[in-house]
Amino acid sequence: MKMEKQYDVIVIGAGPAGYVAAIRCAQLGMKTACIDNWINKDGKPALGGTCLNAGCIPSKALLESSEYYADLMDTSVHPGISLQGIELDLKEIQNDKNKIVSELTGGIQALFRANGVTSISGQAQLQADRHIIVTSMENDKKSDLLASNIIIATGSRPIDIAAAKMDQHRIVDSQAALQFDEIPGRLGIIGAGVIGLEMGSVWQRFGSQVTILEAQECFLPAADKEVAALALAEYRRQGLIIHTGACVTKTHNHGTGVTVNYNDSGKSLQLEVDKLVVAVGRRPHTEGLAPAEVGLLIDEGGFIHVNEHLMSNLPNIYAIGDVIPGPMLAHKGSAEGVAVAEHIAGQKNQINYNSIPSIIYTEPEIAWTGQTEEQLKQAGIKYRSGSFPFTASGRARAMRKTTGLVKILATEINDEILGVHIIGAHASELIAEAVLAMEYRATAADLALTIHGHPTLSEALHEAALAVNGEAIHIVNRKA
Ligand code: FAD
Ligand code: NAD
Repeated sequence: MKMEKQYDVIVIGAGPAGYVAAIRCAQLGMKTACIDNWINKDGKPALGGTCLNAGCIPSKALLESSEYYADLMDTSVHPGISLQGIELDLKEIQNDKNKIVSELTGGIQALFRANGVTSISGQAQLQADRHIIVTSMENDKKSDLLASNIIIATGSRPIDIAAAKMDQHRIVDSQAALQFDEIPGRLGIIGAGVIGLEMGSVWQRFGSQVTILEAQECFLPAADKEVAALALAEYRRQGLIIHTGACVTKTHNHGTGVTVNYNDSGKSLQLEVDKLVVAVGRRPHTEGLAPAEVGLLIDEGGFIHVNEHLMSNLPNIYAIGDVIPGPMLAHKGSAEGVAVAEHIAGQKNQINYNSIPSIIYTEPEIAWTGQTEEQLKQAGIKYRSGSFPFTASGRARAMRKTTGLVKILATEINDEILGVHIIGAHASELIAEAVLAMEYRATAADLALTIHGHPTLSEALHEAALAVNGEAIHIVNRKA
């Protein structure tokens, strides 16, 4: 084994939680190394973790390509414009997506160099007294590193289920579903969560017949009820077949396709598909991370236990991102990375988990922050609600994207905004204004007093804020 090397901070994992933590630590003057074991399809180390290599970025690249294609194919959207000879070359689309991924992962390598972060391609295992054994991804050689502080950011991996054993050819996870080299004629998806809906949208727009089987009766239970109902109707109108309350009992991978057996409302049903995607959630990546004698506290679900400073039960060993409880979102992990780096440097940084945005990048997009009406009712909080439909927005009409609405929830007592729910075009961008408003504990009246450019989609937020107090201009206000 190579001789021991010492660092102020070692980060394990270079996903959006880990690489951001490493850069911030280095910016704050700490000697920092980041160890990561990701090997891309060309057999090369690649930084960025799940998000850049097999998650946020490749999925959004395919969502954009498929949306563009679907828009071009729908001649009813822009009367007066007709196009002929539109062709789809999946190989080119995949190459382009891979290029975007490799440019971004290479960008992190460049940021590491510029900030002085030592990048190590290897499998890390935590040892006692803040030692880490790293096995090189290149030549299997082991080295012993020592750090004053360790940040674990090992992320998550897909959950597998006994009823649908994955072979990554016919029955696949989301990573393989992003790499199909031909468009499946019939695509089945288990799970109508974020991945199921985003992947389903991609392949449905490219021409697959997509059937999504969701075990729960309730569709998108984390979203606002009205938003979820609107989304379900819209996805079905687009052609996605979505069965809720559908529990997969057995699958048979017969080489040329997959037979899926499922129960729906007491009936045993069967579905025949060419490919099946299992998208039933992700679990934290902690297997083999630390031998039992190290004593790292990991809960039943595999999540690392942390305190309010994101420190584990072991002194100066922190954990961030998907590997700890909370929403499995890239921006949540990155915020935690910065917070831990600044905590180690003796600075204060408090994360406001209440205003983390959730976004689903379907058409229409869905985005929300803060609480839903259901949560407020359950907590017994009195609130006022203001909504504005995109059908009443001049910009949405000009864009021919009128599906959806903005809903703002504010306390009855002092008008503070407690939740904002958007379904519609560019909801992913519009939500940033709501997050900022909530960070500053703005009231609906504050948003209503803010001048918004015309004609923009953001005027829908302005009008919804006005509607909270019955003062919307471009819709008829509900009588109190
Ligand atoms: P990861 O990104 O998983 O990175 C962890 C890294 O640590 C990996 O490189 C892993 O190989 C490495 N590692 C693990 N163990 C070790 C070890 N022992 N030694 C060395 N290295 C190790 N989130 C969003 O916010 N927006 C989106 O649009 C979005 N889209 C997604 C789409 C898909 C298809 C998927 C699957 C996920 C998506 N997510 C999205 C979720 C997002 O990817 C994760 O929340 C995010 O990547 C978590 O970041 P992380 O740094 O905690 O972990
Ligand atoms: P998810 O938790 O969003 O959805 C999983 C769905 O599968 C749930 O609706 C669940 O009820 C259902 N399910 C579970 N077991 C089932 C079974 N046996 N049969 C049928 N349905 C079953 O998980 P996901 O979609 O796999 O995504 C994983 C994580 O990745 C999420 O936490 C999400 O935050 C993150 N992600 C985020 C984005 C984004 O931010 N846009 C995109 C993709 C993924």
